[in-house]
Amino acid sequence: MDDQELFALFRKNGYKVTTQRLAICKFILSRNDHPTAEVIYQELRKEYPTISLGTIYKTLHLLKELGLIQELGFNEGSIRYDPDMELHINMVCSICGKIYDYKAENVKKLWNVIISDIGIKPDGQRIDLYYKCDDCKKNEL
Ligand SMILES: [Zn+2]
Ligand SMILES: [Zn+2]
Repeated sequence: MDDQELFALFRKNGYKVTTQRLAICKFILSRNDHPTAEVIYQELRKEYPTISLGTIYKTLHLLKELGLIQELGFNEGSIRYDPDMELHINMVCSICGKIYDYKAENVKKLWNVIISDIGIKPDGQRIDLYYKCDDCKKNEL
């Protein structure tokens, strides 16, 4: 999604696009490491010193309403944001919490079969796979 499409989508839904909002949108939509609001805040503060955590939360909430990102809560209480709305596997390190997306085309096919067997239309879907990432495995040795 480019800037123009973002502008159009925001306007269509009655929201103004401010410089900070646009920066937050572009940041989250370009990431696949599922940052928390706090991480987004720390990163964007370098370029936008007046940005507030409140603005970050409000914009993330808006993006969620518009169906551009999903909000993933985790056991340890952290909430992370994922711009990938297609079915995929969140590969979560059970030690450091690092996440990356694994595109599983064959899982997607099977998933669609299951969904049509059940005969419902899902409002959302989420698959998390917990493992130990390479860095954490190294530290264990
Ligand atoms: Zn994901
Ligand atoms: Zn790890």
